[in-house]
Parts: sequence; structure tokens; C-alpha cells
Amino acid sequence: MSTQEELLQTTKELIAFQTTEDQSGQLRACANYIADFFSETGLTIERFEHEGIPSIVVTKGTKTPTVFLSGHFDVVPGDPEQFVPTVQGEKLFGRGAMDMKSGDAAMMHLMRDLAQTNHSVGLMLTGDEEIGGFNGTAKLLEAGYLSKVAIIPDGGEAVHLVMKSQKGILRLTLTAHGVNAHGSMPWLGENAIDRLIQVLPMVEDQFLDLEKHPADHWVTTLNVGRIQGGLATNQVPNTATAHFDIRFPETDSPDQIETRIQSVLPEGIEAVFSVLGPPVAVAVDHDLARLFLDAIRKGGREPQWGVEHGASDGRFFAEYGTLVLISQPDGGNLHAPGEWVHIPSIKFYYDVLKTYLDKVARE
Ligand SMILES: [Zn+2]
Repeated sequence: MSTQEELLQTTKELIAFQTTEDQSGQLRACANYIADFFSETGLTIERFEHEGIPSIVVTKGTKTPTVFLSGHFDVVPGDPEQFVPTVQGEKLFGRGAMDMKSGDAAMMHLMRDLAQTNHSVGLMLTGDEEIGGFNGTAKLLEAGYLSKVAIIPDGGEAVHLVMKSQKGILRLTLTAHGVNAHGSMPWLGENAIDRLIQVLPMVEDQFLDLEKHPADHWVTTLNVGRIQGGLATNQVPNTATAHFDIRFPETDSPDQIETRIQSVLPEGIEAVFSVLGPPVAVAVDHDLARLFLDAIRKGGREPQWGVEHGASDGRFFAEYGTLVLISQPDGGNLHAPGEWVHIPSIKFYYDVLKTYLDKVARE
């Protein structure tokens, strides 16, 4: 079995790859590193590439093991110094330290350590979770890589915080149309930006005021993230567009949200909705979920169910009825400067997974 020192070393090596969306060479180099990690293990290593996004699947020959360990090796952008892993006391700093190269390292070591055992387990690592996962996990599941359980270290910010739900994602684009005219004679045109701006508060009113949210914010939220409109200062613009990010819990639905929004839209405003993913809800009384909590307890911590506002690749598995178990090594500042992971918790996470697999995945 792997030691804390070995897990730390692999995490550091993974962090050193600058695997952001714009660095296809680094994404590929990282996939090569992962493939090399499994050379001479006797495991089946398969490489995929969809739309330039590399993925790697490691199995014992079956596409349908009991458990898939699932991770992503892409990261959000960071300052150059974040790609130089740094240890301070028990903390490892670096981009991806927590999200999620420490989790990747724990799963890679476990998969390798179990290469010759009778555990029914596989590993999939993809390169596009941070930009939607559509060419990584989504494609692998479509290709028939499916399991009863997926373990994903991508939420919770602590090993013992297991996610019982993640919100779904809905995107909305509103386009206002108008009529062009010269900026010196606005009475001759119809200003699309003005129209759009009038509509924004009407749409926002359909959602709970941020100040009135319950403590856990477990309600549908909306954020306008991008506005575009107009070509020149001296012109009355004829189109303006706003892009919204809507996150919803399992108690709401894209249909209900769409109805609410359509009911307040005036004529001349076009709305396009697209569902990026449904919410993920874990059956907390499922035997395979309870055993995961038992494994955490056996390690010496009291497990807790939590909720996660960000989405993960778990939503793709949920569509196939796979039980999704999300928790991760302890850390903080994910997607921010100073991202870190607690080094002993990488080993703790590894041990929890090992205990769990011993229980549920032995043939
Ligand atoms: Zn992540």
C-alpha cells in the first residue's frame, strides 16, 4: 500500500503540469504521465481524445466494474507560481492541490496498489471537468464505461463531508432586439440595450433576494455573468444579450424555472434555455452509501452529509443511475489564490477508499 510520502510526491508531480483549458500540450503531457504511472502493472490502459480533450481509463479489462474512481486533471487558471507545489508544515499549496490533483493521486495509487487483487474497480481521469465535462466523463459513460458506484473527490472540502446533493445547472440567454439609428438621433431608433436593462430586474425578481436566502442557500439562484450589446458609441444598438447562470436544487426543475421567467418577459425579448446538468441527489439510506460513511467512521472521523453548490461530473453518472459518492481530502481556497490541501488527509482519503473497496468491490 502507498505511503503518505508517495501520495504527496505524486500530487506534487501532477500540480506541476499546467493543465488549464488553453494548454492542450500540458493536458496531453499530464495524461502521458498518468499512463506511465500504470506501466507494467498489468492493468488495461485506454486513451481517448474528444475535441482535443484527453481522457484516460484504467481497468482490469472490464468496462463495468462495481466502482469507478473518477477524477479530472484539468484545473482552473492560476498564477504561474501556483504550478510550483510548495509545502508549508502539513499544507501543500498549488493550483489543483485540492481541486483535484490530491484526489487524483490518492485514486491513482489505490488503483495501482489493487492491480493484482480481486477488487472490481476502475479509474477514469478526464481533462475537461472545469469547462463542463462534455468531452471527458460524458463521452466515457456514453461509450459504456459504467459502474454501480462512482467515487469523485470533487466537493465537500473535507474527507468526512459527503455530498448528498449537488445543484443542477441551467443556462439562459436573453436577447433584446431594437432598431439601429445614428447616436445623434436616438428618436429614430429603438435601443436594444435599454430594453434589455429594463428586463433584468423583472427576471431577477423571480428568484429569492440574496439577502433573504436560508443559511444553506439551498434554493434556486441566478447570476447574470455576461452582457453584450452595441457596436459603436454613436449608434443606437439593435441587439443586446445577457447570459445567466441558474443553479437549482432537486426541489425545483428547469420547466418550472422557464415558466416563471417566460411569464414576465415582454414581447421582443427572446429567451433560450439550456440545461447543462440535472441536480445530483444521493439516496442517503442506500447500503452502498452507508458503507462509505462506515469507512470514514472506521478511519476515526464522524461522517456528515452536506450539500454542494458547485456541480461536478457526478451529474453525468447520476443520469445512468450510478450512486455518486463525493468527498475529498481536506483543504481550502479552491479556484482561488493560495489553494491548499492538508497532506495527512490525502492518506486518510486513500485509506477510506481502500476500506470501502474492501467492503463493496471484492469479487
Ligand atoms: Zn473539480
